[in-house]
Amino acid sequence: MDLATLWYLTIGTLLIAAAMTLWERQAHAPRSRELGLWAAAYGVFALGCILAMNRSLLPGVSGPALTNVVMLLGYALVLQGVLVLDGRSLRPVLVAGFLAAIGTAWFVLGTGWASLLWNHASAFPIAVICALTALALFRSRTAKGLRSRPIAIAVFACHSLTYAIRTFVVPMVVSVYGESVLPIVAKLTMYEAVLFTVAMPMSLIALAREEDRARLLASARTDFLTGLNNRQGFFELSPERLRQTGESASHALLAFDLDHFKAINDTYGHDAGDQILKLFARVAGEATGPDAMCARLGGEEFAVLLPGMGVQDAHQIGQDIARRFAEAAALSDGLAIAATVSVGLAVAGTNKLDLTEFLAVADGALYRAKLLGRNRIEIAGSTSVAAAA
Ligand code: GH3
Ligand code: MG
Ligand code: MG
Repeated sequence: MDLATLWYLTIGTLLIAAAMTLWERQAHAPRSRELGLWAAAYGVFALGCILAMNRSLLPGVSGPALTNVVMLLGYALVLQGVLVLDGRSLRPVLVAGFLAAIGTAWFVLGTGWASLLWNHASAFPIAVICALTALALFRSRTAKGLRSRPIAIAVFACHSLTYAIRTFVVPMVVSVYGESVLPIVAKLTMYEAVLFTVAMPMSLIALAREEDRARLLASARTDFLTGLNNRQGFFELSPERLRQTGESASHALLAFDLDHFKAINDTYGHDAGDQILKLFARVAGEATGPDAMCARLGGEEFAVLLPGMGVQDAHQIGQDIARRFAEAAALSDGLAIAATVSVGLAVAGTNKLDLTEFLAVADGALYRAKLLGRNRIEIAGSTSVAAAA
């Protein structure tokens, strides 16, 4: 394989990657900074490749020194983009200082040690930056759970490993087999570079796309007014939540319907009604633990799934929510509305639980609570009558 061909291939791939990333950037406003940094990095890498191909044309060590500094700038931009994903960033002064130090090292040591620097030592900072990039992706909260994250981590870890081998292992191989291995190492390095310049942009674009998709999915599952899960979120996310509970005797489900809500709207206005809905969502969230799944199923109807909970605890929580809600609505600044809620409670065994059926049973109890005068909690399959407040 011809080395020049590999250089041209790498440059072409990088320019295409930069163009595709810029194109992608137009569709991803929330990640435009990251995608812009990555596109800039690919452009800088392409420039570095052009410099590397022509490094002998520049006087003294300035060719390889400049190439090395430009390449490191590219890697720093990639790392910066990854850090920005989580609202972090490298300080520009730090990057500039680091690049200046590398450049200076070249001019101080380069004349006597040019071959050693070019073939081995210059690979070390690249290995370090790529290891840091892999680490940043590993720790990234934004990338957490995205399918392409392990791929992106692997891409940077492999590249880091390649450059660590160039730094530490290749000198040993050279000391055994002589400098004749260096052209082979150069070709292998370029071959790996071609693969890296394809895999890196692919995995980074995939991250941005998957995050976008995850955001859309989350917003499709979220109720805009209250921030709780909506009906879709409730039905799509509950099965997983129930599975995570593990071994348990029962699960509980509370169904809520605000009382005479139409009258509240008619009396105080739609905005006040919205405030009451938000207030209920806040109270329900505060009265339940992180395992609970609170949802606004529609209008003034809510549900709280309590995985692994028995009837007594769930009954207590239902009562708490109803009481706190009525108190908060009555005391709340600017509202002071006499609002109450009726509650239906259903409890089911953990085997073969059908959510639709479960909700229908809780709704049945809720219906009974309405019939029995509202502002109360009723338990499905029970004849007991319990006052909510
Ligand atoms: P009941 O005690 O029998 O449940 O009576 P209700 O008035 O609460 O029940 P009804 O189903 O007659 O009315 C529900 C009202 O909820 C009607 C609708 O205008 C109102 N509503 C639904 N969604 C919203 C919303 O997003 N904001 C506001 N402010 N009102 C809403
Ligand atoms: Mg209703
Ligand atoms: Mg109602």
